[in-house]
Amino acid sequence: MERSYADELEPGDAVLVKGWVHEVRDLGGIAFVILRDTSGKVQVKLDDSVDDELVELGTSLSRESVIAVEGAVEEEERAPTGVEIVPSSIEVLNEAEPELPLDPSGKVDAELPTRLDNRTLDLRKEDVKAIFEIRGEVQDALREKFRSLDATEINTPKIVATATEGGTDLFPISYFEREAFMNQSPQLFKQMMVGSGLERVFEIGPIFRAEEHNTPRHLNEATSIDFESAFIDDDEAMHLCQEVTVAAYERVHEECQEELDALGVDLEVPETPFEYLTYDEAIELANAEGLEHELEWGDDLTTEAEQALGDAIGEHYFVTDWPADTKPFYVMKGDETARAYDMMHPRMELMSGGQREHRVDRLRDEIAAQGLEPEEFEYYLRAFRYGMPPHAGWGLGLERLLVTMLEIDNVREVVLFPRDRQRLAP
Ligand code: ATP
Ligand code: MG
Repeated sequence: MERSYADELEPGDAVLVKGWVHEVRDLGGIAFVILRDTSGKVQVKLDDSVDDELVELGTSLSRESVIAVEGAVEEEERAPTGVEIVPSSIEVLNEAEPELPLDPSGKVDAELPTRLDNRTLDLRKEDVKAIFEIRGEVQDALREKFRSLDATEINTPKIVATATEGGTDLFPISYFEREAFMNQSPQLFKQMMVGSGLERVFEIGPIFRAEEHNTPRHLNEATSIDFESAFIDDDEAMHLCQEVTVAAYERVHEECQEELDALGVDLEVPETPFEYLTYDEAIELANAEGLEHELEWGDDLTTEAEQALGDAIGEHYFVTDWPADTKPFYVMKGDETARAYDMMHPRMELMSGGQREHRVDRLRDEIAAQGLEPEEFEYYLRAFRYGMPPHAGWGLGLERLLVTMLEIDNVREVVLFPRDRQRLAP
């Protein structure tokens, strides 16, 4: 018999359902096995209309055992789904040990480390599962949006010989007889592809950063949504980032109501256009809000400043025209400022991007000015010698997009198996 799912059962059906034992409720005289599958739950009734042996088997099942139940679907007003199954057979496909490390029904809360150690069980909870259903939906929406913008999806190497930006937040690895690194960003590769016949590209992939500090918005392995396009400028790149962000919200709003309900989130699609502040305006506004550590021109925005700005603006916004010294070599720079922009959520930074430097001599000088060896970037510079168009792009953090969208405190919640200073397994 073909398998049916819990959410599609109609009275009068003869069905086979498969799933997990969510709960066994023995009320004396009548008992229920609540079977849970990926679609929902259904109750299996065990009363005197059912074989004694089946009743005995059903009431002795350990929670989270995997079972297959055949039977007749009957209407039952008092059942949560309006129907129940009267079983003709119950098969135990795999028994679960009686002591569970966490309670998948969610009645007993577990700490995050316990949950992460037992992620399989953790994702049997509706709200946790909902996060990952939404994460998948968001990635699908992003791909669809990028495709509609004529961007080509690319995959670039994660093992690299040189650091993208230098710096200390790199993971060295041993690569045969040499030292190599886990890539901290696809930046240089996506720029090289802008100069290729592809012109406009995107990648959704891992970035590796040896951030030493534990914060609720940093991971050591994160997922970056990268976009880069030939023949666009900073204004258009920002506009496209806004459009892509809104597309993700719209899709979740349209397709994930059940998941949002499970998470208790009342999702509102952000209003556009997002506000634009220059860096100068941003530090002025932040300082006017009264900061413990006042910002001076040239400082990066502190967490405190980001919070003050977020409170004052209350919606997504862009910060543009950053001091040149705060930005990496590949961003186009004027005398004092860089044509760089960040997209902020009131809670945190979501994206960084820029108009890129496409003139090879300047690029070489900038690499040297940042204390890096231009020779090590020869493979990258080469792409700029033979016809590199003006271009712009950005990198948007998928986990940060999700935690701000779903009002979740910690980025670890939206990663199946997060990597941080303490956690390398599972
Ligand atoms: P921050 O200053 O918040 O540490 P960043 O400016 O170093 O971030 P970028 O290099 O600008 O990060 O990366 C672009 C985007 O990628 C960030 O805005 C963020 O959304 C995401 N991102 C970067 N590093 C991390 C990380 N360690 N964990 C999670 N997301 C990250
Ligand atoms: Mg940044």
